[in-house]
Amino acid sequence: MMELARQANEIKPKFKPFARYGHGIDEVEFHPAYHRIMALGIERGVPSYAWRNEDRPGAHVARMGISYLHNQADQGTSCPLTMTYACVPALRHQPESAQAWLPRIIATGYDGRSMPAWDKPGDTIGTGMTEEQGGSDVRANTTHATPVAAVGSGQLYRIVGHKWFYSAPMCDAHLVLAYSPGGISCFLMPRWTPDGRRNEVRIQRLKDKLGDWSNASAEVEFQNALAWMVGEEGRGVATILEMVALTLQASVLLRACGQSSGCGYVLRIAVRSGAWSGFWYLACARADGRADRARVPGRLKHP
Ligand SMILES: Cc1cc2nc3c(=O)[nH]c(=O)nc-3n(C[C@H](O)[C@H](O)[C@H](O)COP(=O)(O)OP(=O)(O)OC[C@H]3O[C@@H](n4cnc5c(N)ncnc54)[C@H](O)[C@@H]3O)c2cc1C
Repeated sequence: MMELARQANEIKPKFKPFARYGHGIDEVEFHPAYHRIMALGIERGVPSYAWRNEDRPGAHVARMGISYLHNQADQGTSCPLTMTYACVPALRHQPESAQAWLPRIIATGYDGRSMPAWDKPGDTIGTGMTEEQGGSDVRANTTHATPVAAVGSGQLYRIVGHKWFYSAPMCDAHLVLAYSPGGISCFLMPRWTPDGRRNEVRIQRLKDKLGDWSNASAEVEFQNALAWMVGEEGRGVATILEMVALTLQASVLLRACGQSSGCGYVLRIAVRSGAWSGFWYLACARADGRADRARVPGRLKHP
């Protein structure tokens, strides 16, 4: 896993707007190691364990343990795996969507190819809330949805607008926010439409991030993209927050995991090099709870 993660982070995802002969595909190409790590995470139940064992006490805690171990190797894949785990309560607001999608969302199969979600053994799900002009304030969003025929929960809409931070754009579907006539609502937007065509989700560019390199985050435009309304019209923020709450819980867990794996690196380096200063660095960082104070040169001296 550690070696796969090294490869997946060293050779970053590439945006492929066009196929070899020039037609638009709007895809992101990942290193094969990324797909292998995704497959391992899904097989081990990072997104699904809790939902597959919902009747057993402590199932979510056990899932956190699996996720904690996965994240020791790679943080990038933790993004789509966590979002896939977290989407379940939001999707349950729309029983027919839940019935159609949840069996694949909690499956233990992975297929990284770009193809319709329903032809895969398992699906991954992302989130599209943040817009450039609004940031945290999603009420300032401008993306809007127009009904294709019937209106309201579970119905199909066409969505026009953009998202400023659209992580894991190759997920099989995203839960997105858009204004419908009745207010801001939540939608399930598949990468491929039910008639087997690529949905009108145009990737503008990939984010140049400081970390999380194995995974891609994108800026996208929706040019009449098709999506089903999930939950009550006008209650989109409340619906998607069911997903956000679980991603935030995972964020706290994964930050703790980052600190523990960081300490592990320091210890290994100190033991290998025989440098006591490494232990002293760690002791200072732990005692102060602030790694930056431990970096003061005087504190790195042997006690
Ligand atoms: C690696 C990464 C991946 C991401 N992936 C996704 C994704 O997949 N989907 C998605 O939708 N978004 C994603 N985001 C975007 C993320 O959700 C936004 O960064 C977040 O919503 C904050 O928006 P902002 O960065 O514009 O900050 P701002 O909204 O400008 O906030 C800046 C600061 O002001 C504070 N603040 C803002 N509003 C208030 C307020 N009303 N009261 C008090 N304090 C306030 C905030 O807490 C913050 O400290 C991702 C971000 C990162 C870094």
